[in-house]
Amino acid sequence: MNVENLIKACPCGSKQEYNDCCKPLHDGALPKNAHALMRARYSAYVLDLPDYVIATTHPASPQYSENKFGWKRSISQFSRNSQFDHLEILDFKEQHNLAIVTFTAYLAQNGHDTSFTERSYFEKIGAQWLYRGGQLAQGHAPNLITTGQLMLLPLAYYGEAILNKPSEPVFEITPAIEKLVQEMIQTMDVYDGVGLAAPQVHHAIRLFIMRTPIENNQGGYGTGELQVYINPTISFPSKEMWRSPEGCLSIPTVRAQVERPHAITIEYTTLEGKTLMRRVSGWEARIMQHEYDHIEGILFIDRLPHDERVKLKPLLKNLKKRIHDGQEL
Ligand SMILES: [Zn+2]
Ligand SMILES: [Zn+2]
Repeated sequence: MNVENLIKACPCGSKQEYNDCCKPLHDGALPKNAHALMRARYSAYVLDLPDYVIATTHPASPQYSENKFGWKRSISQFSRNSQFDHLEILDFKEQHNLAIVTFTAYLAQNGHDTSFTERSYFEKIGAQWLYRGGQLAQGHAPNLITTGQLMLLPLAYYGEAILNKPSEPVFEITPAIEKLVQEMIQTMDVYDGVGLAAPQVHHAIRLFIMRTPIENNQGGYGTGELQVYINPTISFPSKEMWRSPEGCLSIPTVRAQVERPHAITIEYTTLEGKTLMRRVSGWEARIMQHEYDHIEGILFIDRLPHDERVKLKPLLKNLKKRIHDGQEL
């Protein structure tokens, strides 16, 4: 296929002309969202524009390669060896700097149908959306498209029952638990979270992960070492309390001031099976209590005074509806 044949229809299947659809993006304009980028990347594969595919791939993507020459060649080979039919976008969700596009790419190679369905993850860096990785939903992805998999777990959102019930203890640290922890780490990091509890990813077990907050010299906080807390118990809350804003990956867009003890003692098992006890304070203690609450089936909004919860009601009702309808959060 060559560009002249495409003056009428853009290969992304938008039914617009290429010049008004994907061409400006191929020429350097930034896509307005990941949906537009997905289309432009598909068109770039169809039109054999490997530079565009490379420029819009996140360096942390499993597809990323330092060997630009070899990478470029393999994209071109894929473009030339495939007969592209069309792209169908099945679902598009955007939340903060993360977007998920589910699509089916209809194509064939040597007369064999090689269509596949993928959930693609995109991350926004500054003003630019980049392809972060994909999870194959159906079919066999050509090696080129998904050379590795980003193991992102689906989040449980406000309104889902698993977030409101106490979780069961972890009886044994099995390989399945270790795998879950690895997937939770990837999921938390992609969503830019500082903590994530197992019920938030649909596992009703007493386990959470968090990154220790580290104070930077601008008076803000960065994220530090990853910690895994299995079967934690919290005791000796300090009398001193403090209020600070909290948010939650399961309740996107909602933030509120929560009052909590300044210091606590936590006893827990590590992923290696060691039992440890620590006294923690400040932000670290706050995140810990927030995550611990999750395994007790408590959300931070449950900790708010009655009048503040009443104020949040319309916002939460709207959020629940948007989650239910699969709208952008
Ligand atoms: Zn297009
Ligand atoms: Zn939370």
